Amino acid sequence: MIKKQFINFAIIAICFIFSGWAQDQSVIEQIVSEANEKSQLEILGQELMDGIGPRLVGTPQMKQAHDWAVDKYSQWGVSARNESYGTWRGWERGITHIDMLSPRIQSLKGTQLAWNPSTSKKGVTAAVIVLPTVSSPEEFQNWLPLVKGKLVMISSLETTGRPDYNWEEFATEASFEKMKSEREAANNAWRENMKNTGFTSRSIIEALENAGAAGIVSSYWSKGFGVSKIFSARTKKIPTVDLELEDYSMVYRLALRGENPVLNIVAQSKDLGEVPTFNTIAEIRGSEKPEEYVILSAHFDSWDGGTGATDNGTGTLVMMEAMRILKKIVPNPKRTILVGHWGSEEQGLNGSRAFVEDHPEIVSQVQAVFNQDNGTGRVVNISGQGFLHAYDYIGRWLHEVPQDITQHIETNFPGTPGGGRFRLCFLCCSWCPSI
Ligand SMILES: [Zn+2]
Repeated sequence: MIKKQFINFAIIAICFIFSGWAQDQSVIEQIVSEANEKSQLEILGQELMDGIGPRLVGTPQMKQAHDWAVDKYSQWGVSARNESYGTWRGWERGITHIDMLSPRIQSLKGTQLAWNPSTSKKGVTAAVIVLPTVSSPEEFQNWLPLVKGKLVMISSLETTGRPDYNWEEFATEASFEKMKSEREAANNAWRENMKNTGFTSRSIIEALENAGAAGIVSSYWSKGFGVSKIFSARTKKIPTVDLELEDYSMVYRLALRGENPVLNIVAQSKDLGEVPTFNTIAEIRGSEKPEEYVILSAHFDSWDGGTGATDNGTGTLVMMEAMRILKKIVPNPKRTILVGHWGSEEQGLNGSRAFVEDHPEIVSQVQAVFNQDNGTGRVVNISGQGFLHAYDYIGRWLHEVPQDITQHIETNFPGTPGGGRFRLCFLCCSWCPSI
């Protein structure tokens, strides 16, 4: 099912690119049949996501992924290079173990956040403390010295660990409504209390570290069964770990009830100093107007809590597969087709911004940009992104996409402008609230 969706993405992308300058039906048929019958997506996905794994900027795996992409393109006869555009903090994740030692022994599910310094091999063993309910910043300041030598739990206690769709399916309407109103009240109370501390949920971390906390324990639930979001640590010296919702909730309740839970956190990692960052750029030169560009774009980097498949391994693979098929079926396009696998989107569009700054000669000659960053769901909507003539172009391009794909896609013209440097046509799906 998922594989088929990727193939559909690839077909949409290629038909869009190709239909811009030719209406040769047999070529379109060859493209569709290459995508459907000789797809490389599963192999590419396995090598990139399972094999190399997540692609956090500044890690050796990110560099490995850039080299892998260049190697793949060269196997397909497509010229490719890694363009260094700056530097970032080099870091490599090690093994994280989080164990509850008291009031009983239990290994907990969790991991260190990115760029967090390593603990010693023995790790940090400390009692847990939760944030207090306070009515003023002064009251919070009076409490603050208590964090010295403690692991501070900084996330709220979730009302439920079941996603809403599960409640909708199995709960009564009344109990679902009750849960939602309790959750809303709890969230409001949490926000109000955070305001009363005089800090935000981010700035409080620095205050806790400065006050001598032994570590920070958080939980950022992704609103699905057993899934958390793993971003970067805000502490400079002490460990910050994310615990999966059920384990976090259990430790939190034990602390609230005064049962003094004690955790041991071993979170190893390597600081690799400052390292260069890259974009992988590949291109098929145009035969008639090589100075004009059609750009395929997808960010290559990911966070490193998972394998970076959803965000944005899938977009990366679609663009690679599109290039492979184009090189095979349409090796001499009219304009130059350039693909940018951006190196550091998650930290603020750094890779694509650097490309724009470094290549005014390309950017001034861009005819169309196709960016993808919509996860693993199917394409459900294509927006004109506010471009006045979007309908003329996208309508024509969509006409070349097989109907068994387009019949499920809604279009929205002219649509509203999207963000980012590159925008002409973004493929949108049900997974992502916005792009
Ligand atoms: Zn993304």
